[in-house]
Amino acid sequence: MNFISTRGGECVSGAQAIAQGIAKDGGLFVPEKFPAVSVSELEEMLSMNYAERAATVLHKYLDEYDFDGLKAACEKAYAQFEGDDAAPLVKIDAGLYMLELFHGPTCAFKDMALTLLPYLLRTGCNLCGIQEQVLILVATSGDTGKAALEGFKDADGVKIMVFYPNDGVSKMQKLQMSTQEGANVSVVAVRSNFDVCQSAVKQIFTSETCQEELKRKGYILSSANSINFGRLAPQIAYYFSAYLDLVSSKQIEMGDKVNFSVPTGNFGNILAAYYAKRMGLPVGKLICASNKNNILTDFIRTGIYDKRREFYKTMSPSMDILISSNLERLLFELADRNPVRVRIRMEKLAQEGVYNLYDEEIEAVKELLWADFCGEDETVETIYEFFEEYQYPMDTHTACAMYAASNYIAQHENDAAPMIVVSTASPYKFPQDVMYSITGNDIKDSFKAIKHLNIATAMKVPACLSKLRDKPVRFTLVVDKDKLYNEVLKFVDQK
Ligand SMILES: *Cc1c(COP(=O)(O)O)cnc(C)c1O
Repeated sequence: MNFISTRGGECVSGAQAIAQGIAKDGGLFVPEKFPAVSVSELEEMLSMNYAERAATVLHKYLDEYDFDGLKAACEKAYAQFEGDDAAPLVKIDAGLYMLELFHGPTCAFKDMALTLLPYLLRTGCNLCGIQEQVLILVATSGDTGKAALEGFKDADGVKIMVFYPNDGVSKMQKLQMSTQEGANVSVVAVRSNFDVCQSAVKQIFTSETCQEELKRKGYILSSANSINFGRLAPQIAYYFSAYLDLVSSKQIEMGDKVNFSVPTGNFGNILAAYYAKRMGLPVGKLICASNKNNILTDFIRTGIYDKRREFYKTMSPSMDILISSNLERLLFELADRNPVRVRIRMEKLAQEGVYNLYDEEIEAVKELLWADFCGEDETVETIYEFFEEYQYPMDTHTACAMYAASNYIAQHENDAAPMIVVSTASPYKFPQDVMYSITGNDIKDSFKAIKHLNIATAMKVPACLSKLRDKPVRFTLVVDKDKLYNEVLKFVDQK
């Protein structure tokens, strides 16, 4: 299957789309068409384990990859997860489920894709005959950076460099990244917010001068951010798997619709749910949950995307985003795949900070999505109430999705479809905030908070977080936002 740019300028193979990360015209790669999954194929997938289901979904898009190779890679990736199911579906109450995506090596859902991306990228480069080393640049609001570093550490032929906003990630996230092991990794803090990091990295990607200079040094650039289709594809799989789990445990019949509530930042996770729906998965509504940075809520309710607003730092930092880059892929579909319309809107966003949809597009958005946002107080309350009622501790991001899901259910009595809340991080990844929410105790030290949270909830502490305490800090550099490329050059020159 071929992939085209949302801005019209390019058509490449899946392998090339993954190797390259982003299209040369600044657009994102999307499949030429959505591959279909029939009911009989869904039925065949019922008896498969998670890795086989994932390989089946991936191969629909990446048909030039060898299926057995994909399957082996999925098995290897998901064997790193704690427990025997990489994406368990937990029943909370009648018609209410949690899809836990945080059992991977860094305790956030980013692991679902980033444990697999090194294979997809290396194989993609081989299929395209790319000889150069790959330089991966990542802008992160916290979780992507760590998951990408873990995925790519000591991978052959790859160097990875991660930029994060110095004051925009949690203590735990910062510690996870600054203690990263591996000879091919670098981590740099930037004096700015995530959006600035993301556009600075995107600028390097789309600059021909930078690309040529790096090529002379023997490197091609690629991305591990969710703009890379190789990030998106593995995420589509868990929506299928959650559905199949409901069917095989007889909670629904094949063909019944289910709703998903997704805590959203860059719009990558929820976009994967939309792709699953377009492939034929019986999905009803997608609930797009934001935090206090509610630009997407406004967009879905009004059709106006307006980033001229204050940026808030919240206790769900991975959702502190004003420019959701994957929304461009949805815009492309809304505009009937007209790249000119996408280009004009992206230019308007860059220049004026705002664009709006046509009326029929607003209708289509509302048919597909329902949006809500969860403020800081509501986040604390949701974690507290939910723990009181179900003894189920959840993280601050998941709480936003739970809050939005509850509001949707309360306001839509006629919609009887089961609700699956997508749980994107372990509560232990944000231990102070979760501890405070559940008990009212404000504990300053992260490891103390982990210990107390463990006592309060009896939930097992993930090994990857408790280990952090004894790891030496390797990366302490903080730079200004216009110095990123300098650091990139230093990193590739370093032997
Ligand atoms: C990245 C992240 C999100 C947001 O996901 P997007 O794909 O960027 O919308 C939500 N929760 C957690 C814990 C994350 O790490």
